[in-house]
Amino acid sequence: MEYINRLESEVRGYVRSFPTVFTTAKGELLDDAEGRQYIDFFSGAGALNYGHNDEVMKAALLEYIHSDAITHSLDMASQAKEDFIATFEEVVMKPRNMEYKLQFPGPTGTNAVEAALKLARKVKGRDRVLFFTNAYHGMTLGALAVTGNSSKRGGAGVPLNNSSPLPFCEYFGAGRDTADDLRMLLENSSSGFDKPAAIILETVQGEGGINVASNEWLQKIEALCHEHDMLLIVDDIQAGIGRTGPLFSFEPSGIKPDIITISKSLSGFGLPLALTMIRPDLDIWKPGEHNGTFRGNCHAFITSSAALNHYWRDDALEKSVLAKGERVQERLRAIVKARPGLDAEVRGRGLFIGMDCKTEGLADAIGEHCFQLGLIAETAGPDDNVLKVMPPLIISDDNLARGLDLLEQAVDAALQ
Ligand code: PMP
Repeated sequence: MEYINRLESEVRGYVRSFPTVFTTAKGELLDDAEGRQYIDFFSGAGALNYGHNDEVMKAALLEYIHSDAITHSLDMASQAKEDFIATFEEVVMKPRNMEYKLQFPGPTGTNAVEAALKLARKVKGRDRVLFFTNAYHGMTLGALAVTGNSSKRGGAGVPLNNSSPLPFCEYFGAGRDTADDLRMLLENSSSGFDKPAAIILETVQGEGGINVASNEWLQKIEALCHEHDMLLIVDDIQAGIGRTGPLFSFEPSGIKPDIITISKSLSGFGLPLALTMIRPDLDIWKPGEHNGTFRGNCHAFITSSAALNHYWRDDALEKSVLAKGERVQERLRAIVKARPGLDAEVRGRGLFIGMDCKTEGLADAIGEHCFQLGLIAETAGPDDNVLKVMPPLIISDDNLARGLDLLEQAVDAALQ
């Protein structure tokens, strides 16, 4: 601990939020070096939707490693990659009538976003990409250019894109609809509005504080993109892979994004894997135009195929996520209602839930008490005002209830 605090850069000093050293983990439970156990309501910000050390994925990975199979396959096809693509097509795309080309843009989510932005600019021959208040798309310069919270830019200035974020859905400014405003700008020739190449959005903003877009709003934005020759990029890196219930968060809205980015729980095992899904006719990059050494990790392909086969051949996981999510929201609302001193709004979709605490510093204080009581939860939102409730999707009913009991105790401790 002291060692970590002394040497790890302040930028990654998460030891301050969770002051312990974690050693082992299984499912929704984590153990630390002191022998304490914690319930995970964080799931690596959506990177561990199937929990820690899933047995099915672990077995597949161990078998692959034991067989001395290819670990790195730059510029080569590997069995792991071929199997992943075949599984993705069969389990994910075919049942949903989806047609996309798959591009491995690099190891992490931000690489998938960079690829999407770059490709959109090339396809449309225009530079600007519109984005929304509190949007979060990653830490590289292109992704930062469409990240709404400028404090995330780490002093890098305004990279690539001089736009300002547009209000997200109905959440910012009651009664105001960004899609309507945008239409006026695009259709009024005297507005001087510089037509963008694309719009990028999260259907539920994660780092932005669990702000949920309505299906109608998503449909309006899609229609606008079609009518005005702009691409719609949906960043499903945090909201996807079942976090909101369905595999893709936008499924209930019926929209068909031109480009989709996924990562985080795609590998299922906490391994880095990112994917940019591209409408086939937009796949215009020539070989070598978008490269990278660590594109498509073979071990991650193995665990990802195992996860897709195990969890997504039927709708059992989706149904259980929706049912658990409803219970969590009900319980959180009851916690808020029973405490006049707690001014908070509960919102979310599936197991992507937030409690927006209106009192400054309260969400952080609750998070700290959660940790003391044996529950891992993080905060998000522009002022870290939203306590995120994101357990692994496979959490048992018992541990979900226990975790919510701990959260309730933490709320009381923070309010004292
Ligand atoms: N987009 C969204 C919606 C995210 O939540 C994140 C990560 N929190 C990213 C992009 C960036 O992904 P990564 O951290 O893997 O680069």
